Amino acid sequence: MNTKLTYLILSLSTLLSFAPNANAVELCGKLAQGEILVGKFAEGDVIFKQEKIRTSEQGDFLIAFGRDDESSQNISFLTKDETTKDVELKIEPTAWDIQNINGVPPRKVTPSNSDLRDIETEQKLVKKGQKNNTTTAFWKKGFIKPVEGRTSGKFGGQRIMNGVKRNPHSGMDIAAPEGTPVKASSDGKVTLAAPELFYSGNVVILDHGYGLHTIYAHLKEIHVKEGDIVTQGDIIGLVGKTGRATGPHLHWGASLNGIKFNPPSLLNINKGDDFCFIL
Ligand SMILES: [Zn+2]
Repeated sequence: MNTKLTYLILSLSTLLSFAPNANAVELCGKLAQGEILVGKFAEGDVIFKQEKIRTSEQGDFLIAFGRDDESSQNISFLTKDETTKDVELKIEPTAWDIQNINGVPPRKVTPSNSDLRDIETEQKLVKKGQKNNTTTAFWKKGFIKPVEGRTSGKFGGQRIMNGVKRNPHSGMDIAAPEGTPVKASSDGKVTLAAPELFYSGNVVILDHGYGLHTIYAHLKEIHVKEGDIVTQGDIIGLVGKTGRATGPHLHWGASLNGIKFNPPSLLNINKGDDFCFIL
């Protein structure tokens, strides 16, 4: 037989023997607190945290584990012929940092009554920017780091500011000189481009679809407006130190349907099968 033909037949049989069965579920990512994973289940609905989650026509979906999620999480798969597959996911704990930050302007640690009104406005704007209403799977492009630089604050760190215990860090801080361009970490839609918020300063939120958002805070300048569609790598603003910041850096945050997770885990999305396993 012709060698090429033999090769073709061998390749085809290899492909067929490894084809997952119809109800197989693939997950890609790390089963740990503060991580996002991509899944594939083409046969029906996926229920996670008691909610039916969005799946694409090909069956792609996203799930995320919060900073303090319990070690056992259930996920269910409902096929069109009404069989249910329940899977218990074992979530590894993550050791979160303790972060001491000194030199924060005192009113940014203990806000006045009028500051509390500004904080409330900020929370409403951020929440609005993170609504789950985009059905385009922009996230399938994968993600890049928005700025290169030293990590000056990790996600999830328990923060002690000027000696006062504050909320855990909701994103990752990347130190970079003031004016460094900040890139869109993936394709998306600008859902918030707001100046001078109390904590975030000048801030941009991108919606990547399916409830997935990234946030870029403390910017010196904003270079996009709400409603803009951006492509991965587009310059959306410049690194600054606006809002609650002690020096120039980018605060990069990420959330899935309101669950905040460690932004660098986005870098694993669509980076190949090394991160994938079958349930
Ligand atoms: Zn930060």
